Amino acid sequence: MQQESARIEQAKGEAMAGQARIIDGKAAAAELRAEIGREIAALKAAGRPLPGLHVVLVGEDPASRVYVGSKEKQAVEAGMVSQVHRMPAETSQAELLAKVAALNADPEVDGILVQLPLPRQIDVDAVIEAVDPAKDVDCFHPLNVGRLAAGQGKLIPCTPLGAMLLLKQLMPSLAGLEAVVIGRSGIVGRPMAQLLVQADCTVTIAHSRTRDLPAVVRRADIVVAAVGRARFVQGDWIKPGATVIDVGINRLPDGKLCGDVDYEAAAAVAGAITPVPGGVGPMTIACLLRNTLTAYRERRGS
Ligand code: NAD
Repeated sequence: MQQESARIEQAKGEAMAGQARIIDGKAAAAELRAEIGREIAALKAAGRPLPGLHVVLVGEDPASRVYVGSKEKQAVEAGMVSQVHRMPAETSQAELLAKVAALNADPEVDGILVQLPLPRQIDVDAVIEAVDPAKDVDCFHPLNVGRLAAGQGKLIPCTPLGAMLLLKQLMPSLAGLEAVVIGRSGIVGRPMAQLLVQADCTVTIAHSRTRDLPAVVRRADIVVAAVGRARFVQGDWIKPGATVIDVGINRLPDGKLCGDVDYEAAAAVAGAITPVPGGVGPMTIACLLRNTLTAYRERRGS
């Protein structure tokens, strides 16, 4: 028991107050992509088909175009076949559903990702539910959401998976740690909390209606911020030595990116912290590639 609490104390962070260790998501993502690349090279050497990632982009949203471009580039660099299916902004729901059905039916397609947001005339939920769950590399389909909740998920939502991989690299066991996730979205907050519970953390999900958020956050050995508000989490909310995972991506008026955490103030107190950019962000696409390879192995047999 004493040993267990000593381990937890150690896991809470080597640095107690002072300057936090900066968690290098860029390096971790490069390493993950290289590992995926090696797995794909081995498939190729064995004469197996290459995994195929297909992204559907509807309309001209500038941020979506940048994300989709990065996904395609990184998939190709890892040795996958990647194709972007560009459809005009006025695409009807029936046309998009027909595209998804064609990709579902194509045996060469391992991963399907419909880039969000979608134009107004399209029912997002209907599109998400139309994607074959076996090819749902975003892990948005209700069946995959349910599997994750039941602890049976093979495909894991990319951003929470990326955050978990960073945490596990830092601390091999998270058992017994207090984790506070700020944000309850289906894409980040909720799946993140589920993964932390599965890693034996004691988890609190905080959200816009949480009372006395600073006091809740101060309990945390691990803080995950997924709020979507620039520099929202204050340095004096952070327990000394805590690990801070900042999922937020916010654009400031000067064009620079920043996270949901007041980085400088939090880094002075935390044991470890992810920067923005260069923290969770790069892990997201690497985890999309990981999910594509997982979907390939599950569907085609490794
Ligand atoms: P969302 O808007 O769907 O959810 C935000 C959550 O924050 C909500 O659950 C809400 O309850 C909570 N919230 C809002 N105001 C709050 C307050 N005052 N106090 C406490 N909680 C509050 O956003 P999301 O899709 O979960 O994204 C969150 C952030 O993560 C955004 O900045 C987004 O850009 C970023 N994001 C990053 C990646 C990545 O690859 N790194 C991926 C997805 C999202």
